[in-house]
Amino acid sequence: YAKRQGRNTYKVFAPGMDAEEQTRLELEEGLAHAIARDELLVLYQPRIDLFQRSVVSYEALIRWRHPSRGLISPATFIPIAEQSGRIAEIGEWVMRQACRQAVASFGEASVSVNVSALQFRAKGFVETVMRILDETGLRPERLEIELTESALVDDRDQALGILRHLKKLGVRVSLDDFGTGYSSLSYLRVFPFDALKIDRSFVRDIESGDGSLAILEAVLRLGRAMRLRVVAEGVETAAQLDILQRLRCDEVQGYLFAKPAEPEALANFDPVTVFDTGRSVGPSRAA
Ligand code: C2E
Ligand code: MG
Ligand code: MG
Ligand code: MG
Repeated sequence: YAKRQGRNTYKVFAPGMDAEEQTRLELEEGLAHAIARDELLVLYQPRIDLFQRSVVSYEALIRWRHPSRGLISPATFIPIAEQSGRIAEIGEWVMRQACRQAVASFGEASVSVNVSALQFRAKGFVETVMRILDETGLRPERLEIELTESALVDDRDQALGILRHLKKLGVRVSLDDFGTGYSSLSYLRVFPFDALKIDRSFVRDIESGDGSLAILEAVLRLGRAMRLRVVAEGVETAAQLDILQRLRCDEVQGYLFAKPAEPEALANFDPVTVFDTGRSVGPSRAA
């Protein structure tokens, strides 16, 4: 109701265009030059193997340092990039940065890159991945792409073709935000994933008695049966970590260990200290 009111008042000043639309348009225009003006950056968040107690990969998470609006979250601008046809270009930029960074400073750890549905389906996606691997010299096994179910809903045959091609190269594939969205279990049967990332809402509510714990247990059992690694996202407390360890979750990721950060800030990060003290020692620079 408030929104409708705001919209109506605004229309007096900008006929046919509300505040939200104006912002969207401004961001859309800005995105056209964001790469050339060096405004995009990639932060990395470690993924920790609970058995090895070490960092096995880093997730690449994009940010936009907007000249007047400050740091903009991908939740805001990725949908705009998708709608305005810029996602393939931006996605390619992120993947190249991430692969370079992995070669330069991640040792043997992998890097995972979020790939949006439109980027995944765009003509030449697999060729682009091959070119980037070739250019950067990253071994394909060290690259993982994270897809959400939205990338797989229409035209399953096309999606399966792309996935199989990637798998043949040696690239790994994970299903992100598992448990939200369409959540058809048949995806697990049809598509050759290497890992499932359980959405952080389940981790957040793990102690609330609302069924999140039961769902996590079931997903972990499913993962073991199907030989998929299961990654819990959004681990923020020692209590959540403790439960996930008892459930024999494979990997965790979350603020308890580290927030997404610049690679330099992650260089000295050792997850062992978090296991020992239960306190976060990760880079505290919020992003
Ligand atoms: P995602 O791939 O599910 O990434 C996880 C999000 O959870 C990230 O938000 C991360 O910063 C946040 N997170 C990690 N640990 C915690 C925690 O302990 N607590 C809380 N509250 N949050 C945590 P971020 O970086 O804002 O990214 C949001 C989404 O934007 C991502 O969700 C992904 O879907 C999308 N995204 C990010 N980078 C890219 C990109 O390069 N390309 C595309 N297509 N999408 C991207
Ligand atoms: Mg992700
Ligand atoms: Mg996720
Ligand atoms: Mg997400």
